[in-house]
Amino acid sequence: MLNFEKSKQAFQESSRYLPGGVNSPVRAFKNVGGEPLFIAKGDGAHIFDIDGNRYLDYVLSWGPLILGHADPQVVKDLQAAVARGTSYGAPTILETELAKKIQAIVPSLEMMRMVSSGTEATMSAIRLARGYTHRDKIVKFIGNYHGHSDSLLVDAGSGVATFNDIHEAPGVPEDLAYDTLTVAYNDIEGIKQVFSAHGEEIAGVIVEPIAGNMGVIPGTADFLQTLRTLTSEAGALLIFDEVMSGFRAAFHGAQSLYHITPDLTTLGKVVGGGLPVGVFGGRKEIMKWITPDGPVYHAGTLSGNPLAMTGGLSTLAQLDESLYKQMTARTDELMTGIKGAADAHGVPITVHHVGTMWSYFFNQGPVNNFDDVQKSDVTYFAKFFKALLQHGIYTAPSQFETNFMSSKHTEADIETTIAAFNAAFDDVA
Ligand code: PLP
Repeated sequence: MLNFEKSKQAFQESSRYLPGGVNSPVRAFKNVGGEPLFIAKGDGAHIFDIDGNRYLDYVLSWGPLILGHADPQVVKDLQAAVARGTSYGAPTILETELAKKIQAIVPSLEMMRMVSSGTEATMSAIRLARGYTHRDKIVKFIGNYHGHSDSLLVDAGSGVATFNDIHEAPGVPEDLAYDTLTVAYNDIEGIKQVFSAHGEEIAGVIVEPIAGNMGVIPGTADFLQTLRTLTSEAGALLIFDEVMSGFRAAFHGAQSLYHITPDLTTLGKVVGGGLPVGVFGGRKEIMKWITPDGPVYHAGTLSGNPLAMTGGLSTLAQLDESLYKQMTARTDELMTGIKGAADAHGVPITVHHVGTMWSYFFNQGPVNNFDDVQKSDVTYFAKFFKALLQHGIYTAPSQFETNFMSSKHTEADIETTIAAFNAAFDDVA
């Protein structure tokens, strides 16, 4: 058994100062009945806890670290950047360079604004949609998560689904929640009904085109196309929240897989390469509504921060199609191995993966929406998660989250991981 003594002590101490001992809820491992590991360092595909245990890391800071931990080039570029100062609150060429790079990869972002988190990106996109259309209502999908701003914390996935009744969002004013209409994910009839009842009041529809906050659930092509058609017809905006799927589901984002152009897109995670960056952008004509060109207010003391821009630039510069091919092939292989291990042990499982995003549900399937995810055996999941840790594999500590692949995970790492899954199934049986 691995020794977690130092992490336990660190958690006791952090719990005196931070609610739940953490700064973001799923990190606490509360739902899997344990205490979190405190991390000392990361190196490539591995992280090391403060007790000296080493793990193959598939959380990767919840997605951003597509190049793994402490990529040498990213570290070098950041070291050079920090020596020039940490923030100026004035424009730098880095911001334009990152915007150009993003546009080259995801061309629907004709103009964009940099912010410091995915939450800020989606919150700002929603305000823009409301300002631009002069309408208040927005539509989101049950089990999709778009960060923790008031309007979007309704029927949300991720930590909300892990710890709360998703229909309740204490602290969110009822009036705001009233303007957020929710529909089951992949429910074409449901969204048509909402548009026939409220079409002229809807400012925008926000969707994770590939949901990653209830495990991985791809939107169906028909569903996403229906959203495009309904929003266009009603004069509402279609917002693809690609904070997770951007640079993850595919190099050019989920929108490239479905050949659908949203009006606005939000990005985060990989776009900052492990530093705090979020982006919202889209059609020029809409983005021109942002201050100071237009009337919709947006600002940020650290928006476009030079270190954060450097983290993003240094990361995106290393990405290309061939790298995605390699990472996707390794993810495919891992999924086949996990499915095979579960089948060999007679454990019902459904595995889902798109590009470098992957998850499994202890559930016979099919899994197409939040109701389906809820049929998963979360008690088994908790035991299995802890067994994997003992075998040196660090995965997302909730059934309602996604795991990720990095460029640093080798063929040998995949084999080690599949062997660990087999061993964990033996342990939990
Ligand atoms: N949107 C999606 C799809 C996300 O997955 C997340 C975070 O997991 C967010 C928005 C919020 O991003 P952040 O945690 O950077 O605020």
